[in-house]
Amino acid sequence: MTEVKTKVREVKLFIDGEYVCSSENSLFEVKNPATQEVIAKVHEASKEDVDRACLAARRAFEKGPWRTMTVQERSNKIRRMAEIIIERKEELARLEALDVGKPYPVALGFEIPRSAHNLKFFADFMEQQGGEVYPMGEDFLNYTRYEPVGVAALITPWNLPFMLTTWKLGPCLATGNTAVIKPAEATPLTVSLLGEIAKEAGIPDGVINVIHGFGVNSAGEFMTSHPEVDMISFTGETSTGKAIMKTGADTLKKVSFELGGKAANIIFEDANLEKAIPESIRAAFMNSGQVCLAGSRILVQRSIFNEFIDRFKKAAEELVVGDPQDTLTNMGPLVSQEHYQKVTSYFEIAKLEKSTLITGGKQPNLPEYLKDGYYLEPTVYVQENPKARICQEEIFGPVVTIIPFDSENEALQIANSTDYGLNAVIWTDNLQRAHRVSHSVRAGTIWVNCWFVRDLRAPFGGYKKSGVGREGGHHSLEFFTEAKNICIALH
Ligand code: NAD
Repeated sequence: MTEVKTKVREVKLFIDGEYVCSSENSLFEVKNPATQEVIAKVHEASKEDVDRACLAARRAFEKGPWRTMTVQERSNKIRRMAEIIIERKEELARLEALDVGKPYPVALGFEIPRSAHNLKFFADFMEQQGGEVYPMGEDFLNYTRYEPVGVAALITPWNLPFMLTTWKLGPCLATGNTAVIKPAEATPLTVSLLGEIAKEAGIPDGVINVIHGFGVNSAGEFMTSHPEVDMISFTGETSTGKAIMKTGADTLKKVSFELGGKAANIIFEDANLEKAIPESIRAAFMNSGQVCLAGSRILVQRSIFNEFIDRFKKAAEELVVGDPQDTLTNMGPLVSQEHYQKVTSYFEIAKLEKSTLITGGKQPNLPEYLKDGYYLEPTVYVQENPKARICQEEIFGPVVTIIPFDSENEALQIANSTDYGLNAVIWTDNLQRAHRVSHSVRAGTIWVNCWFVRDLRAPFGGYKKSGVGREGGHHSLEFFTEAKNICIALH
């Protein structure tokens, strides 16, 4: 694969059905993580721009046809968006690979189709919803309506920009709300296209607005404190969730947070290693480990510890690190220099904590044109102390720690010993143990003998510092609606 020279795109704000420039003419640069070339100049939303976007969303909610049209009409338009995404899937996947540094086949085969599915799923699902009816004898009848809340701020991180935005946008729109979207400043390219996709699908102006910018004292903070925003659906770091909760408190915004993770991936001695090893490799290194659901703490029963390490090391070393646009690549670069510095700072911490480096811990040898990208080899440590920082903190890179355990109880204790509780993975052929351990691990999603399998009807979210609320199926619909009870006297 040779270097693909990319043009520098201008990314504008999408407000009230139009692409517009920053009112302060403030632009920031976005780089290709693979090469550090500048690939876009992005208009940063000023306070005034955020205000215009929020007011446009408010008008579209109050006055526009969106809220009052039939569910079928709304769902048809949302499904049309999904179709356009599929029609443009190669372009969107190329852009996602360019912006995030993830392998193109992953973007094309999984993320972009899943993004279309997010929209289609909620359009279809909404059409099947009814309400509740509670008759009180012959005298009164209660019935419940689920009405849209209003204007939603949808804020997403850089690791899965298009997929996570559509995951929020689907239920937000299907229930009749309007949205102001802010993708992460590092990866705005695909999400910025939602404006034109919505327009082509016939979504009325003002229903979807896309703004760009940073967090503190920028677009993120302006939108989460804006009086016209009724609710915030946020995915990102736990510390950012805390800041947003404070900012939104003055106007008492409804919040749904999907935050960080440090999943335990527990390998019992009766596990089928033929399956557990490749899936644990995927769980550790997919998207260069920049996945909230990554199985970054691998707990291995001591009786199979050495065998597991040998096989896991060999499989990690077989991964191809390189150009994300190359179809043979398994792992691209980290998203930015800043993130690379954060991830590699853990190499020093690992040393101080006397962790044993099994493989990785350095940059791979790559062709000249990739020399400026922030690539890392898949990195594996062994650490006996589950309280060590590399076992506790979310590194969010291609770095995993293997921790030995002796008994089921000890495995459970270690699994539950972090502040996070997004997900866990359990590998065992013992049915009773699979259920028992699943019940006792404090996390929102437990995968038994599998990883990253999602049914969009199922609840998704975190215990402890991994989130507030749940997304998925009716859980998403509940967040984006207000339940209204109507009580009718029958006489
Ligand atoms: P981040 O919290 O730094 O940023 C996420 C978004 O919030 C960005 O759009 C950013 O501009 C915005 N933001 C930052 N500060 C803000 C503020 N004060 N007010 C309003 N908005 C603000 O997260 P990131 O580094 O982009 O993403 C990585 C994190 O996301 C990891 O912790 C990962 O675990 C988490 N994540 C969680 C899930 C999940 O489903 N639980 C999924 C993906 C990623």
